[in-house]
Amino acid sequence: MRTRLTEMLGIEHPIVQGGMQWVGLAELAAAVSNAGGLGILTALTQPTPEALDKEIKRCREMTDKPFGVNLTILPTIKPVPYEEYARVIIESGIKIVETAGRNPEPFLPPYKAAGITVIHKCTSIRHSLKAERIGVDIVSVDGFECAGHPGEDDITNFILLPLAARKLSIPFIASGGFGDGKGLAAALALGAEGINMGTRFMATKEAPIHDKVKQAMVEANELDTALIFRSLRNTARVFKNGIAEQVLEIESRPGETQFEDIRELVQGARGREVYTRGELDHGIWSAGMVVGLIDDVPTCEELLRRIVEEAEQIIAERLSAIGAVSGRDIHASA
Ligand code: NAD
Repeated sequence: MRTRLTEMLGIEHPIVQGGMQWVGLAELAAAVSNAGGLGILTALTQPTPEALDKEIKRCREMTDKPFGVNLTILPTIKPVPYEEYARVIIESGIKIVETAGRNPEPFLPPYKAAGITVIHKCTSIRHSLKAERIGVDIVSVDGFECAGHPGEDDITNFILLPLAARKLSIPFIASGGFGDGKGLAAALALGAEGINMGTRFMATKEAPIHDKVKQAMVEANELDTALIFRSLRNTARVFKNGIAEQVLEIESRPGETQFEDIRELVQGARGREVYTRGELDHGIWSAGMVVGLIDDVPTCEELLRRIVEEAEQIIAERLSAIGAVSGRDIHASA
């Protein structure tokens, strides 16, 4: 499959593995890139900018294909030296960066000067248009289905993607709710140049997380996510476990919720232990509605091959057959 995305990024399949806190390590990014997609390391998963530099080098030893780095700017418990992380990304020679959270404008001049292709995650059309205006190369349009932070508008991809196709000139990727070939074919039909997947890549053999988490995703259905932090306007879609339910209960109490009321429960350090120890109720962990479509744990190579083959088959057989039949009908009635 060739799209503007595969051409711009130098990849074989129009499939990107989006940034994922605690999951976007070299093992996964390299596996996705080796399988012909675009793997992405998550900068803030590394405790320091120096550690990110080492992780980039580790990833280079595991793949000679292109891979990128995600740098997300959202509220955090501890202050983050974002400029230092950005400097490491640039100096290490990374050529693809995924930005998310806040407007990436202050970072664009140095990224552009270094010849970096910037993919910015947007949960709305107004932010996508702004991203285009300030010089972002590709927008990753993140629908309400997504894991992590879907924004506060709650607009699903069936509306966001056709709107993006109408309004944007730069290429865009469909993100949120994608996990199979039907999704890829649909995203292409809706105007996207490819798909971004996070949750689906967590349930792969190479994802560096505990098997119990992968198994929980296989067993989960589409109702097993929850939206926390709504009351703080920092909404996050996470797996609906005991901690998420406690947070929701606190947020539903009369009066305003303060972050302090839930800080202990939601801290990322606890979520990280879910992934390393496999204790599913130890902290919050991100998952999108697509958990309802996940029923196995393949390798990244198997997953990408299967998605592309299914999409190609849908386009070549199902859609073209429907097109041919309706074409005949039009001729017959004429
Ligand atoms: P953390 O331990 O600093 O914070 C845990 C969670 O609380 C995060 O979701 C964070 O956004 C939220 N939070 C922190 N301070 C807050 C405040 N004052 N008000 C409202 N919410 C607050 O975060 P971490 O697990 O170390 O992750 C680092 C960064 O990566 C965070 O900004 C997190 O949101 C982000 N992240 C992004 C995605 C995504 O979908 N793009 C997914 C996971 C994490």
